[in-house]
Amino acid sequence: MARYTDASCRLCRREGQKLFLKGERCYSGKCALDKRPYAPGQHGQGRKKTSDYGLQLREKQKAKRFYGVLETQFRNYFEKAARKPGITGENLLVMLETRLDNAVFRLGMGASRKEARQLITHGHFTVNGKKVDIPSYAVKPGDVIKVKEKSFSSPKFKEMREMSVTVPAWLSVDIDKLEGKIISYPRREEIDVPVKEQLIVELYSK
Ligand code: SF4
Repeated sequence: MARYTDASCRLCRREGQKLFLKGERCYSGKCALDKRPYAPGQHGQGRKKTSDYGLQLREKQKAKRFYGVLETQFRNYFEKAARKPGITGENLLVMLETRLDNAVFRLGMGASRKEARQLITHGHFTVNGKKVDIPSYAVKPGDVIKVKEKSFSSPKFKEMREMSVTVPAWLSVDIDKLEGKIISYPRREEIDVPVKEQLIVELYSK
């Protein structure tokens, strides 16, 4: 499976925005964007794209990087979103938001989407009682996501059970049981992502 392996903080610096790719570090004084708030590379401090195309491209890159999705997969999401009834940009965000790795992260069972993805591929989660190790698995209302009981004894999950977690309204969680439920599909205002999705629609509609 292809995946992005370059330094995560470079991605935030390139987008000029915190994408929260590194868990706790993102909320600490060690955040690379706080220390160096300009794009990486030799021309990072001078380079600025202001054309419409440049703005649209940046929004698409930002969304991809925020959710940790590569180009082909992102394009596939867009095409599916465009075929669904409703507003394409919102459909796209709902599809990204309801990926299993994002739901696990939002439930507080991963410090970042990257960590959630890793825990899922290592087989620690079930959906409706069945093991699911595919981070892109699409969850839907009524689904119950749970950490396998065999995994409860690992230090990572022991620590998690002691944390207090706040989840968006479309989810509910019982962190002591390491169990979460999808209440509904998220509405746009419940999706906390620094992306103007309309610009992505414009980019792909050219
Ligand atoms: Fe981005 Fe987090 Fe790195 Fe800050 S610490 S630049 S928010 S990945």
